[in-house]
Amino acid sequence: MGEKIVCSGCGVEIQTQNKQEIGYAPPAALEREVVICQRCYRLKHYNEVPDISLSDDDFLRMLNELNTKDALLVNIVDIVDFDGSWLEGLPRFAGNNPVLLLGNKADLLPKSVKKNKVINWMKRRAKEYGLKPVETSLISASSKDSIEEAAALIDSLRRGRDVYVIGTTNVGKSTFINTLIDQFGESETPRITTSTIPGTTLAMINIPLDETAELYDTPGIINPQQAAHFVTPKELKQITPQREIKPKVYQLSAGQTLFLAGLGRVDFHAGEDASFIVYASNEIPLHRTKTEKADQLYADHAGTMLSPPADAETLGGMKMQEWRIPSEKTDIVFAGLGWVTVQGGPVTVRTHAPDGIGVTIRESII
Ligand code: GDP
Repeated sequence: MGEKIVCSGCGVEIQTQNKQEIGYAPPAALEREVVICQRCYRLKHYNEVPDISLSDDDFLRMLNELNTKDALLVNIVDIVDFDGSWLEGLPRFAGNNPVLLLGNKADLLPKSVKKNKVINWMKRRAKEYGLKPVETSLISASSKDSIEEAAALIDSLRRGRDVYVIGTTNVGKSTFINTLIDQFGESETPRITTSTIPGTTLAMINIPLDETAELYDTPGIINPQQAAHFVTPKELKQITPQREIKPKVYQLSAGQTLFLAGLGRVDFHAGEDASFIVYASNEIPLHRTKTEKADQLYADHAGTMLSPPADAETLGGMKMQEWRIPSEKTDIVFAGLGWVTVQGGPVTVRTHAPDGIGVTIRESII
């Protein structure tokens, strides 16, 4: 048996037999010093994912092994999609291992937001999900904000143990590790594939930390509640915030409706006038209308003015839910899309979203 060759982009074992299966690379690729699979090659050069299968069961099996290890777990969440990127079952996967919770993509929050306030909010949210992290921090892997602080935390918390970087897809695990390698690692360590398309990292990737310990990048599990699964890769780029979010403030009265493209809708059903502040990608079109006209507006303009998605058929209809919003500042979250902060409650609102986009309310992050 020859030595196992793994893709340096996603960590999967390389095979040259079957183009439809994970890890395929043309035989000629094996001649190169750094081997990457065809999937990573195409992701990197064309930003497209060939259709290949790796089941959620495989991801779960890998996560389930974590509690048999003695390691530090670094759980990364996307701070602008906190609930959509929360790793269900994390306390169980972690077992007795300490968890360092890192909120990534802090660069997307409005600059006026106080970092410590967000960190305290993250701690409270984690507790509600049954997790007590040993430390919590807010970072930006791509703009390298607080990376040094995170590296120092990892170093002091791991006490010689291995480190596993875990999180759902697209939270920035690979970017974080690449940033660590760039800043503190040895230059010949190959870069890990990163992209806006969920599910890039397929297998575990390990990077030596010292003579005995290693850092692992685990594959992300796809959270089915994310808006990402209803739109094309191009639309995904549009609805994923790429720059600092500019909040859009609407002073609304009962009987008014706000559309977030063709993916979300908030009807102000009852209550005194209140502020509705939208935090989402600056590229998402917002439309205000009277609730009585909203159904017709959607019927006439879904896929055109109210887009993405260009193809409203993919959504399979919109589901309505009613919410009592308290007097405290509250966020209505559309997983993967953003959130609407309501200030000036109590009010009653009705949300509309495709069945697969999780809508929740929470204490306001900002
Ligand atoms: P992974 O699936 O968790 O490994 O995530 P990736 O590292 O592939 O990143 C997913 C997407 O998020 C890519 O488009 C990255 O460029 C982007 N990203 C990662 N870190 C940051 C960050 O700190 N800020 C912003 N704005 N985008 C980020």
